[in-house]
Amino acid sequence: MVDQWTDAEQTQLYFSAFRLSSNGMAFFSEEGLFLRVNPAFGKQIGYPEEALSGKPWEPVVHPDDRKQVRRMLEDVANGTVGSQPFEARLIRSDGTPVRCSVTAPVVPGPNGWPASLFVQILDSDAPSRFAAPAPGRKTTRERDETSSDSLYRTLVEQCADVVSKHDLSGRILYISPSCRVLLGYEPEELIGTNVYELFHPEDLTKIPGLTSPMETAPNLPLISYRIRTKNGGYVWFETSGRIAGDEHDSENGQTVICISRDISSRKQTEQQLMKTNELLQKISSIDALTGLANRRFFDERFAKEWRHAMRFSTPLSVILLDIDYFKRYNDTYGHHDGDACLQYVAEAMRRAAKRPGDMIARYGGEEFVIVLPVTDGRGALYVAERMRSEVELLRIPHRGSAVSSYVTASLGAATMIPVRDVSPRELIIRADKALYRAKQEGRNRAIAYDEE
Ligand code: GH3
Ligand code: MG
Ligand code: MG
Repeated sequence: MVDQWTDAEQTQLYFSAFRLSSNGMAFFSEEGLFLRVNPAFGKQIGYPEEALSGKPWEPVVHPDDRKQVRRMLEDVANGTVGSQPFEARLIRSDGTPVRCSVTAPVVPGPNGWPASLFVQILDSDAPSRFAAPAPGRKTTRERDETSSDSLYRTLVEQCADVVSKHDLSGRILYISPSCRVLLGYEPEELIGTNVYELFHPEDLTKIPGLTSPMETAPNLPLISYRIRTKNGGYVWFETSGRIAGDEHDSENGQTVICISRDISSRKQTEQQLMKTNELLQKISSIDALTGLANRRFFDERFAKEWRHAMRFSTPLSVILLDIDYFKRYNDTYGHHDGDACLQYVAEAMRRAAKRPGDMIARYGGEEFVIVLPVTDGRGALYVAERMRSEVELLRIPHRGSAVSSYVTASLGAATMIPVRDVSPRELIIRADKALYRAKQEGRNRAIAYDEE
């Protein structure tokens, strides 16, 4: 397929691949100078591309690995064949090492560009799932290659990422040999097929719309999706693409050049982390912001206290606390200070309800609930009033409040001796009614539920 393309088309493919690849790649000249580096290379080792071109290789190669690099350069200069690719360490601008592979000789250097070493940054994200291809013999075409795109062609063919070219419907026009390692297919098996047939059905929606390429920016959004390998499994790919070609050229039309890398191990870590977090959230009974019990824990404990109080016919009290004008507090001081305020209020509440059986929980955003076992109406109102006072005593400035220059709270208390056929919800509803009255009657007050 490649051979049917014009030189200009091929150069475009190779050049785009080189620029777009997220795999850091560089060429050294025979003298050991940086010939060409791609943006990913600069990024991964921490230097701008311009800072490297034409510079000697020594400073960026780990001192312990320089001898080996030097030997390979000599081998290339002497025309010694069979130099084995090896792994070396490059030194990033911040002094940390990064693994890379060094290969030579890559191609007979194109005129004026005698490339001798090809350096590729090794990424642990791109595991070899399938046997690496045998170091294939060079075809006559490759051997005879002298055009200026041979450098890029080499990159595409040796790159660990998969480079591919498609028509706008997704049909594969070219795919680089690394598809053997990452997907298990020979390039010839894939050329002519539609890449979307390999997509995981659930990921088809991630395909960027190509219905009106004229209006689309040349760089397509980065997408990650699952793609089917030859053995029927799926791997995660991340692909960046670029539209190339002339939309007015009716014969060749526009094409899409893609660079894809295997991100399965990254995805696996992400998914594991998400599962762990979900699990932690589920088993957790603590509200992360205030350190108080959370709503889920409250529901459980409250139901138990209700049953317990019913069994022994003891009074059970509940207090609801709601911060006054808290929306305005956030609007005035920002959400971050709002969160801090919630933490202070939680502390103040802890100071006011100290009996071992008392439980304070974060009920909703800025609402708290307190359960007081074996506590009658008078006791509950006493605790509620103490809480109100503790919050006021915090003296947290609140310009937006219409009742005070400091943060205040309103509280509603209710008490019942639980009986069969009455839902525990009833006690909460009563406390909420009392809270509503506290708001109505001017806020910054504690009110007990009254039957009337
Ligand atoms: P009222 O005196 O009538 O209670 O007025 P209010 O503004 O406090 O009442 P409302 O219930 O309308 O607003 C509650 C606000 O609490 C809404 C939201 O801005 C804020 N809020 C809820 N949860 C959180 C939270 O976790 N952090 C922060 N910073 N703000 C929260
Ligand atoms: Mg509220
Ligand atoms: Mg409020």
